[in-house]
Amino acid sequence: MSPSAAATKLIDQLLVRPGKPLSLSGHDPAATLGWDKEQAKTELVEVKARIDELQQRLYAEEKRSLLLVLQAMDAAGKDGTIRNILAGLNPAGIEVSSFRVPAGKEVLHDYLWRVHAEVPARGMIGIFNRSHYEDVLVVRVKQFVPKSVWSRRYDHICAFEQLLVDEGTTVVKCFLNVSKDRQRQRFQERIDNPHKRWKFRLGDLDDRKLWPQYQRAYHDALVRTSTDDAPWYVVPADRNWVRNLAVAKILLHHLEQMKPRLPPEEEGLDGLVIE
Ligand code: AMP
Ligand code: MG
Repeated sequence: MSPSAAATKLIDQLLVRPGKPLSLSGHDPAATLGWDKEQAKTELVEVKARIDELQQRLYAEEKRSLLLVLQAMDAAGKDGTIRNILAGLNPAGIEVSSFRVPAGKEVLHDYLWRVHAEVPARGMIGIFNRSHYEDVLVVRVKQFVPKSVWSRRYDHICAFEQLLVDEGTTVVKCFLNVSKDRQRQRFQERIDNPHKRWKFRLGDLDDRKLWPQYQRAYHDALVRTSTDDAPWYVVPADRNWVRNLAVAKILLHHLEQMKPRLPPEEEGLDGLVIE
């Protein structure tokens, strides 16, 4: 299969089709997508080289930006994905923003205020480790606000993302789909390994108990906000190597579609020799 046919197939497989029903249980978190682990490692190097090239063009062009949103349950590997994808890219062109429980000034504003401020500037790739989607996920599941409040937010989010798209930001969203059993294993590793304990909080178990409620909230968020302009992808996240390559390929696919171009060079450079 040609690289572009393979990319289209992957996109097809993982895309949440706008306006269509979605069955999250139909997405296997342990899927390998037909890849082989060793080959995937080699391919990831190639995909990242291509991302690097396009990122440089995007940066030089300074007209548009790309926002990659990562959402997932704990231990699905948001941090690992970011570390893996960023390694080897030019850090000057990439910004990572993490969203925690709102605090300070953040709580004095609407929920999109802090998010808008972190959207990547022209020329940049921005990666969101959690995002405005927390406001229809944890906030819904833990009932931090009544349904009458969170249920209006899907429309706000679609309008907000459309604004970004209209103004030159490509918006791509990945749900890292981990299984409950893999989360158990990874939590156990975090508890058993003193170097990983800092990643674990007892409160994480409260979220784990609410697994079905979170799945429902994810389902609704994905269905209500996957649009042609700001699509969601469901990425199998039980195997790190599948997750990393899939996210890298999705990122590459959208960068390729943007076709960033180097700015026109100044005249009079042909044959110029520096003395
Ligand atoms: P971590 O990403 O593991 O450092 O944890 C960040 C925590 O902040 C997670 O438990 C999120 O659910 C929580 N969080 C992020 N955004 C919000 C929000 N808007 N409202 C409430 N909790 C949030
Ligand atoms: Mg947590």
